[in-house]
Amino acid sequence: MILIFLGAPGAGKGTQAELLSNKLNLPHLSTGDILRKKLLESDYLSLKLKKIMDSGDLVSDQILNEIMSIRLNNLDCKKGFILDGYPRTLMQNKFFHEYLEKNKKSISHIFDLKINEATIIERIKSRFKTENREDDKTEIINNRISKYFQETKPLSDHFSFNNSDKYHLINGNQDIEMIHQDILKISRN
Ligand code: ADP
Repeated sequence: MILIFLGAPGAGKGTQAELLSNKLNLPHLSTGDILRKKLLESDYLSLKLKKIMDSGDLVSDQILNEIMSIRLNNLDCKKGFILDGYPRTLMQNKFFHEYLEKNKKSISHIFDLKINEATIIERIKSRFKTENREDDKTEIINNRISKYFQETKPLSDHFSFNNSDKYHLINGNQDIEMIHQDILKISRN
């Protein structure tokens, strides 16, 4: 089973992907977590990545595609996986689509978490207090939201138009457990 989470920063992709991963026993591939782990290496590439991520910009498609093609070849992905943060642009999706074709796999469901902008800002601000992520600072949030509308929203539109049977718009304003139940019901169908 291949599941994809889409949604603005702070929409709850990571939380829902993790809950689902435990329930369905599938690996949760969070590109944010993978990239933050890479930053700990403190080599030239990770310093460059840190600068990009701290500013709220997206890392290049080429780097993401390279990282993900390695990760997706891991044995644990054989039975399926949950993507959180990838694909995030139309270019990344093109690459991912080629991966699927080459490996004779297909997407099972796409969950697009929709929340209103005021809630996004509220959630990210409270996350900053607990996790202290540089990119959760107030002045960076707006850049991340605008990158979302420029780069990722077109991908949502693409899926809702071309994969309408697999695309599910989920009300992300509900509490965590209710959202989880909505997603679980669809995944088990
Ligand atoms: P959020 O979804 O809340 O923005 P993430 O933890 O998923 O947070 O990602 C943090 C940062 O990592 C992003 O702002 C971006 O710089 C980088 N990133 C993560 N996934 C991708 C991706 N698929 N393409 C480009 N950059 C990415």
